[in-house]
Amino acid sequence: MADQLLLGSIADTPSPIPIVQESPQEGYTREMLAVEVAANPALAPYVECFPWHIPRYFRMREAQLKAFRFLSQGHDQVLLEGETGVGKSLIGIVWLSVLRKLHGYKRIFYVVPNLAQAKQIAKRFSDMVFVLEGRESHDCLYYPDQKPAWKANEIPCAILRSCGHRVDQATGKTLEEGAVPCPYYAHKYAAKQYEGIVVTTYAFYLIMRLFKSEKGVWEDHDAVVLDEVHNITPLVRNVLSYDITDWHLERAIEVVEKVDESVSVSLKKFLVVFKKIVSRNKPPFTKIVLEDDEIKKLIKALEAIDTSPLESKKNELEKMASQAEGGREALNEVQNLLFNLWRYIQSLRYAIPKEENDEIKHMALNYVFSYFVSEPIPEEEYGGRGPKVINRLTIQSHHVRPLIRKKVLLSRTLAMSATIGDRTVFGYISGIDFPQYLFLESGFPAENTRIYMPSDTPSLAYSVRSDREPAKSLESIVKECKLFNAEGIRVLVLVGSHQELDKFLFYSSPDKENLDVITYSRGRSSNSPRSDAMLGTMPKTPKEAVELFRGGKGMVLLGTEQNFSEGIDLPDGLAQVVITLRPGYPDPNSPESKFENRKFGKNGAFAIHQWLVKIRIKQARGRTERDGKIKSVTICYDQRFKGLVYYALPEKLRTSYISGKTFADCCLDARAFLKK
Ligand code: SF4
Repeated sequence: MADQLLLGSIADTPSPIPIVQESPQEGYTREMLAVEVAANPALAPYVECFPWHIPRYFRMREAQLKAFRFLSQGHDQVLLEGETGVGKSLIGIVWLSVLRKLHGYKRIFYVVPNLAQAKQIAKRFSDMVFVLEGRESHDCLYYPDQKPAWKANEIPCAILRSCGHRVDQATGKTLEEGAVPCPYYAHKYAAKQYEGIVVTTYAFYLIMRLFKSEKGVWEDHDAVVLDEVHNITPLVRNVLSYDITDWHLERAIEVVEKVDESVSVSLKKFLVVFKKIVSRNKPPFTKIVLEDDEIKKLIKALEAIDTSPLESKKNELEKMASQAEGGREALNEVQNLLFNLWRYIQSLRYAIPKEENDEIKHMALNYVFSYFVSEPIPEEEYGGRGPKVINRLTIQSHHVRPLIRKKVLLSRTLAMSATIGDRTVFGYISGIDFPQYLFLESGFPAENTRIYMPSDTPSLAYSVRSDREPAKSLESIVKECKLFNAEGIRVLVLVGSHQELDKFLFYSSPDKENLDVITYSRGRSSNSPRSDAMLGTMPKTPKEAVELFRGGKGMVLLGTEQNFSEGIDLPDGLAQVVITLRPGYPDPNSPESKFENRKFGKNGAFAIHQWLVKIRIKQARGRTERDGKIKSVTICYDQRFKGLVYYALPEKLRTSYISGKTFADCCLDARAFLKK
């Protein structure tokens, strides 16, 4: 049997190890691997640590065996690209278990983008992992009369220093003898005692690696699996980005002026500079990238804030924070300000290019943009905090490559994703350029899928599309959805914006095509009574919409590419068709695009955006397929997909790529294919 490993550095090296000859569709039993293990003892711990005891893993799949053969060669840092369905999470769990077995490692982590994914891992490997959750998952016990209890991230925990529930992270004892342990600190302590694999989110892992306040969980870390690693750059950027609003500043000032006048005076001065820079001579509702001079003024005003007098006022602050009514929320703002002040200054400094006479020269690594509204903003904005924010400043971290290399990667790291794509681009933006690379093909049969690129659809680029677009295109997609639905075929439709989503609903309404659509409202309203009537009946969040659809409700699941191209699975025929309207290129006028054009040049920025679009195409395709037993199709609508889709496909699926047919014919062909 030809070994199909695509190994970065040893691709053509013939294996000296006898390889099992059988390749059963369902994989290998332990007994079937005995011969290979005898010849290759390095593989033995992988076979031993394989979770044979979990019914769904009663056999080792071909792709998993290939991964273990590779990992057993002792590579410390590996980039693994495995198609949907190869069982990557199991590979990661087994790899960590082997390291623990061989080296006695106790501080081993499996990192995922969000808590829902962490819980999925825990569900599959319940006796092998511990899910480490952040403050937002735990009730705070400090305010016993508060019902429902506030979460540990909603209270000024650092100011409430004498809270008796606090659990000492070295001893596990509460500060006050006999007190009920704080759920958050008790959980952290339990994670520290756990000797297996700790599963957590990128955000928590990064906070733990970067910030002193959380470092106490572990002194150091031994090995890490980074799952869905194609997302690492935006995830790290988000953790290191900050929003400052006048509403929050004013709340903090209200408290501070009660305890120290000098600090409140400097905060008020900063507030004046802040408001002037954010809103003077700037249009409302528009994100404006700040000029270097404006950033320098902000830094100067922030540097003038000396919070040290508050050190001696901690008892007063704690007393105020202990009053549930009014104290808790305002003190939380003070706490954030105290902790983040130096981070604001640091991040702002990195938003200015280093100049000729600076010791270290570099271009700006972050960017700063402001945004203000001149009227109350919708309740749902800003995390449901209501119409309070008028001026907002965002310090957006961007160049995180060195930080990922220094703080996220460990000497033993397995970075995994279904969609790495161009490794040069990925390595450039993420800093993950391990020489050891492994590609795993799924057993997905090419004959069970089709990918269509219609010939007669328009380009929906702002610069070239007609005034009737994208409405006209959305109307024709609605009509085709109706034909799919008539044959009992459910469809996932991915659009690029909420305006497009509203337009799709308009054409789907009962007095138009009358489609059975499920989407999410987020409490929004559109400009159309027809769309509003439909939005009013929809669940609020994308997650709720997916759950309803998975439960059998609706024939079309509709969402933006941003919300739906990742993190949802609709395999086993839950949806057999994905129609994706247009590639998700960033808005050329957004602060991010402007910054990237300046930093990477137009060609460099374009290469990064192309990479991102290809990743999203692959992710969108992966939503409907798992093991390939049920047929599925993907239709890429916009002409800008041409030239991207084909090259985004794994080689064996390129035979499933169909172009040269009209959109209507593609859909007709898809219906015939799915019905066969
Ligand atoms: S330590 Fe005390 S104040 Fe902090 S989250 Fe726990 S119970 Fe609340």
